[in-house]
Amino acid sequence: MAQIVIKNLRKEFGAFTAVQSSSFTIEDGEFFMLLGPSGCGKTTTLRMIAGLELPTAGEIYINGTEVSQKPASKRDIAFVFQMFALYPHMNVRRNISYPLVSQGMPRDQVRAKVDEVARILGITALLDKPVGGLSGGDRQRVALGRAVVRDPACFLMDEPLGALDAEFREHMAQELRALHDRMHATTVYVTHDQLEAMQMGDKIVVMNHGVIEQFGRPQEIYDWPATTFVATFIGSPAMNLLPFEGMVGNGATSVTLAGAEVHIPKMISGGDGTLTLGVRPEHVHLDDAATYRGRIVTAEYLGTTQIVTLDTPLGQVKARLSSNKVVTPGETVGLRFDARSISLFGSDGRALTS
Ligand code: ATP
Repeated sequence: MAQIVIKNLRKEFGAFTAVQSSSFTIEDGEFFMLLGPSGCGKTTTLRMIAGLELPTAGEIYINGTEVSQKPASKRDIAFVFQMFALYPHMNVRRNISYPLVSQGMPRDQVRAKVDEVARILGITALLDKPVGGLSGGDRQRVALGRAVVRDPACFLMDEPLGALDAEFREHMAQELRALHDRMHATTVYVTHDQLEAMQMGDKIVVMNHGVIEQFGRPQEIYDWPATTFVATFIGSPAMNLLPFEGMVGNGATSVTLAGAEVHIPKMISGGDGTLTLGVRPEHVHLDDAATYRGRIVTAEYLGTTQIVTLDTPLGQVKARLSSNKVVTPGETVGLRFDARSISLFGSDGRALTS
């Protein structure tokens, strides 16, 4: 088991700063996601935790011990890259046994441990089979078995499902999460897929250009994005962001937008200049009595819901509506926003509401 504390961690490659001063804590047993677009510094952060990259500055504590200058082998962690890296000439049992055998563990103990791991992963029937003939999913399970068999205090995973097609990816994501819930080993998982991060993670760090934009539980991040970057990176379709010129004081409960008053939740600070109102598509409602009018541009059918795009005096707005609602492109409708779910961002793109 492991708690990992990251303090002011920074990585420069020559003149380029890949990770700006980052601080966060990964609690013991947590499934922790490092999320962000390509090049944001998430792999570099993971490699520093693993000991595969030395930080330029800052500290990494694993269970209270500062390890940032220690080699990977002294950190009691298992690094799972792409999970397909198996030894093709060995059968399943020998693949999973390998880390224990190379540690010099007695044969009967190795056998018992591999049997236990195979049972947890549901691959007991495959133990004597060559890995060459296995399906993608079974190979993935074997690779996972090889990573978990050592009982490391912590797993580090870099886009482990990246090579899989969408359907299988979702299935393996559920299996990984279920495995974690049985083993409770601290897991740090890198992904650029916001949906994967939301579905699997207990906590998420969202990174952009080497900077931590937000750190929190999936629902917190979804409901109350700390920046306009997070508001658009998380959620599909993204949060509607509607810029306007204005001023709001500390403690204000409404703002004036395109001549009408919009109620807002609690402010954390006031702001002025170019402000941005954020509202998720599921919190936009059609209502003929509402002040704002919008013209329906398109309706995209998604099964139980539809995404309706409207041209409004505030800008283009997307609404997630029930598919039962009949909408016609070209039609003018009234729309209102759910006051409890509105975010407000200052001119620096940081949230003014919480
Ligand atoms: P991806 O998902 O594409 O791997 P990432 O968020 O994991 O993206 P990193 O791999 O951490 O990003 O890279 C962050 C930045 O640091 C990138 O611009 C990358 O080009 C740069 N970088 C990473 N490793 C090195 C290195 N060894 N030398 C120079 N620059 C590097």
